[in-house]
Amino acid sequence: MSHTCTDCSANFEIPENEHAFHEDMGVPAPKQCPQCRLVRRMNERNARNLYKRKCDLTGKEYISPYSDVPFPVYHPDVWFSDDWDEYDYGKDIDWDRPFFDQFEELLNSAPHQGQFICPGTLENSDYVNCAGYLKDCYLVAECDYNEKCLYSNRIYHSLNLMDCSNVYESELCYQCLDCTKCHSCQHCMDCHNCSTSYFLRNCIGCNDCIGCMNQRQKRYMIFDEQLTKEEYEKKKKEIKLHEFSGIEKARKKAEDFFLTQPHRYVQMERVENCSGDHLFDSKNSDYCFDGKDLEDCKYCNCIFNGKSSMDHMAWGGGSERIYQCAACGDTAYNLKFCTNCTTNLNDLEYCGHCTGCKNCFGCVGMKKKRYCILNKQYKKEEYEELREKLIKHMKKHDEWGEYFPKHFTPFGYNETLAMEYFPISKEEALAKGYKWKEVVDEKPDVEKVIPANKLPETIEDVPDDVLNWAVSCEETDRPFRIVKLELDLYRQMDIPVPHFHPDERHKRRMALRPPRVFFDRKCDKCGKDVQTTFAPERLETVFCEKCYLAEVY
Ligand SMILES: [Zn+2]
Ligand SMILES: [Zn+2]
Repeated sequence: MSHTCTDCSANFEIPENEHAFHEDMGVPAPKQCPQCRLVRRMNERNARNLYKRKCDLTGKEYISPYSDVPFPVYHPDVWFSDDWDEYDYGKDIDWDRPFFDQFEELLNSAPHQGQFICPGTLENSDYVNCAGYLKDCYLVAECDYNEKCLYSNRIYHSLNLMDCSNVYESELCYQCLDCTKCHSCQHCMDCHNCSTSYFLRNCIGCNDCIGCMNQRQKRYMIFDEQLTKEEYEKKKKEIKLHEFSGIEKARKKAEDFFLTQPHRYVQMERVENCSGDHLFDSKNSDYCFDGKDLEDCKYCNCIFNGKSSMDHMAWGGGSERIYQCAACGDTAYNLKFCTNCTTNLNDLEYCGHCTGCKNCFGCVGMKKKRYCILNKQYKKEEYEELREKLIKHMKKHDEWGEYFPKHFTPFGYNETLAMEYFPISKEEALAKGYKWKEVVDEKPDVEKVIPANKLPETIEDVPDDVLNWAVSCEETDRPFRIVKLELDLYRQMDIPVPHFHPDERHKRRMALRPPRVFFDRKCDKCGKDVQTTFAPERLETVFCEKCYLAEVY
């Protein structure tokens, strides 16, 4: 039976196995289409737009994803301490008012954890978010176990990365995307085990290559042409990859070249009975992307290690039976309609910003509590009775089974992952009922601001003084600074100073990926139906797995 999305009016199907899942979870069928549900959840997560702010309890200055928000925001050390009491914000259930109104009041009064970090695991890494186990990192988000990494997101177990996204176990990489186990690579995407290379796509085990696509175990290749070592060295010199204009020329040439090569319809490895994109080591999971170790999941995105879940967005870490939750993870079982709940969670419904809680309903900012509703403590039997009554009450107001209303998120659409995955204009966002955050850059406290096009072509010609300047972005005019670690890495890797603000670099990097939307399309070689993230009107040639493998091996 076809349903009409209450958000975008599109028709969508709810197949039988989804109904079975809803029944098992004790929830009604959703009223929004999968994509509207996803965007709504993504709008709960601001990973990389950070602001200087003061802890509302101690006055300590630190970096936070929250700027102008209605609720108090505490530094994580304070938030996790006993210096404040979550019960102070507790409320009796008011049976004369809808639940969401009461939850919103609590949400906007209870203190929030001001930075999503794993306390005590960060060394010299103040400017980070959604992170743990870092040393000497700067402006990185959604990442763990890294050292000396800058301006990156979703990077793990890596050293010396700059401007990278979705990169794992890699070192000395710059502007790479969706790569694993790479070393000294620049501008590479969907590569594995490659080193000392530039502008590679979908390559495995390649060293000393430039502008290649779909190559395996190659060396000294430029734009898929096999050269001798001497020829390679000579040509590489001519391309001038140490000059800003040389890189830009090579980028353009590589982009044109890639369009002439077959593209794999999606990126999946070691999966069984799955559909999605950038999905690894998973089974029986559908419509999932940017995930690893999933089992029996559907519409799950940016999840590591998740089971029997639907509509779960970031991040997993041993989660099971999760439905319509955003930014929840680290050992979680049976969560419905929650946002930003972490670590050892069981049986939560409509909770936000809680940690270590079990059997809670409609709570905000609670730590290690059990049997609470709207931050008020009950006895087990009372809780169970009230929970049933509250669900009935929510059904009466058409709230049960609905995710939190859009305006509950404290973030502008453009601050969150929603913008990263589904970029829209301010007008579109506002028309759809989302908030928008105007970007206002602090005036940099510097000797001078220089336009990007006045920067020297090579790093050799950049004096130490650059640390005292700001550069104005060639695209957006936004000023940005260069930090010492960054300059050291540019010098070590022979990279010219970038001409674009870190946000613009991030945006351009994200634009290289096909959108995380699935299209029905035919393999350009054999005509077989494939479900791909390459829209039919795109210029790329798209091959099904079989045709792709026949081409590259
Ligand atoms: Zn919709
Ligand atoms: Zn095919």
